[in-house]
Amino acid sequence: MSSTFDKVRTRIAPSPTGFLHLGTARTALFSWAYARHHGGEFVLRIEDTDVARSTQDSVDQIIAAMNWLGLNYDEGPIYQMQRLDRYQAVVEQLISEGKAYRCYATPEELDAMKEAQQARGEKKLYDRRWRPEPGKVLPAPPEGVKPVIRFANPVDGDVTWDDLVKGTITINNREIDDLIIVRTDGVPTYNFAVVVDDWDMRISHVFRGDEHINNTPWQINIFNALGAPLPQFGHLPIILGDDGQKLSKRRGAVSVTAYADGGYLPEAMLNYLARLGWSHGDDELFTAEQMVAWFDGSHLSKSPAQWDPAKLDWVNGHYLKQIDEGRLADLVVTQLKAKGIQATAEQVQPKVGLFKDRCATAAALADWLAMYFAPVMPSVEDLAAYITDAVRPALAVLAERLSAMTDWNKAGIQQALKETLAATGLKMPQLAVPVRVLVCGRSQTPSVDAVLEHFDKKKVLERLHSI
Ligand code: GLU
Repeated sequence: MSSTFDKVRTRIAPSPTGFLHLGTARTALFSWAYARHHGGEFVLRIEDTDVARSTQDSVDQIIAAMNWLGLNYDEGPIYQMQRLDRYQAVVEQLISEGKAYRCYATPEELDAMKEAQQARGEKKLYDRRWRPEPGKVLPAPPEGVKPVIRFANPVDGDVTWDDLVKGTITINNREIDDLIIVRTDGVPTYNFAVVVDDWDMRISHVFRGDEHINNTPWQINIFNALGAPLPQFGHLPIILGDDGQKLSKRRGAVSVTAYADGGYLPEAMLNYLARLGWSHGDDELFTAEQMVAWFDGSHLSKSPAQWDPAKLDWVNGHYLKQIDEGRLADLVVTQLKAKGIQATAEQVQPKVGLFKDRCATAAALADWLAMYFAPVMPSVEDLAAYITDAVRPALAVLAERLSAMTDWNKAGIQQALKETLAATGLKMPQLAVPVRVLVCGRSQTPSVDAVLEHFDKKKVLERLHSI
């Protein structure tokens, strides 16, 4: 680490224009783990300078998602819009040092400039018409035009950095122009505010998505103009959807909140996200503590990661089997509620053990447990296939035996089933499947005596008699 920083400090800097995107969550996780690994600090900064699109609701959602994932931050949330005075002061300093300047070019003039450049086959770059330069006479500022402020970018030479993920990246200053750093309304642009913030917040390592690689040369030039120490940058490759396209709302859930709502576990999500672009040997299942112990900034992949819902389900299923059943019951209660089904954790908890091995998520578990708390609706096909005239008398016998039971338990139910088979000459599946269809609303379940045991006897009898 550069000796200019006394400790590792990382940050996540989401724009509050929506939910916490999975890509941002992955960046947050890597930034957090890196800081924790080095005994450093992690900062949450809200980049809300896009005033028209930023909302408090989005900030709240982002914070809730960070909390859910357990990505605790040491400072923040720090809001950029509360730091306008600071940006203003830095801009004034840059202007006074000739490192930034007011530009009065109107949008129409800039359009004409770009058209002319295009006609000449040149790259469309701001032609520095308002940049003060030795020997250049600038026109008088036009009346009534509010200027933007531009950064006086070095006109030539290379910008080079050793990216923690991508390796050495070099961009020539001739490829980039004098960036607008403050808009006409006085609000700074991303590339400027981010530098002032990273400087002020003593950020030593910047992890972010690789869509920002093109911004980094400007930022490095601004850091240098300010005499600020350069953080190290690590640009993480994009996460692709399972169809190989960019993850997008149209192609499924892209927000952390949607997975929380869908009955996924935060430890599973964290574990799964960690493997998108990072590896530790062949390890697929590990805790947050292990990740922190291992995450030293190495083994970061240069190529895009692929979102794999089946793998996420596998990881989630793994944790679902392990967690405390009281916690699992609470999650199932929430999922049932979302389906409009009321149940208490006390009612749910004794039942989760029987089904959890078959489930990837708490939502899937709630699908199973719904039969205990809400009416079931066997399909027409199942009723036709299994509730036949041949089996009806056996169902009646079984109902009678169950009804006579004084102690409602698995062994007694098993006994009643066996006696019914003996009395009717049916085989177990010929009886058990119709019982499942009527009582559970589906033809396949765990062992039928174990499933029935968790019902009230009255409800089982009602459902057996419902034909
Ligand atoms: N607000 C930017 C984003 O959400 C932050 C980029 C950065 O980390 O510098 O993409």
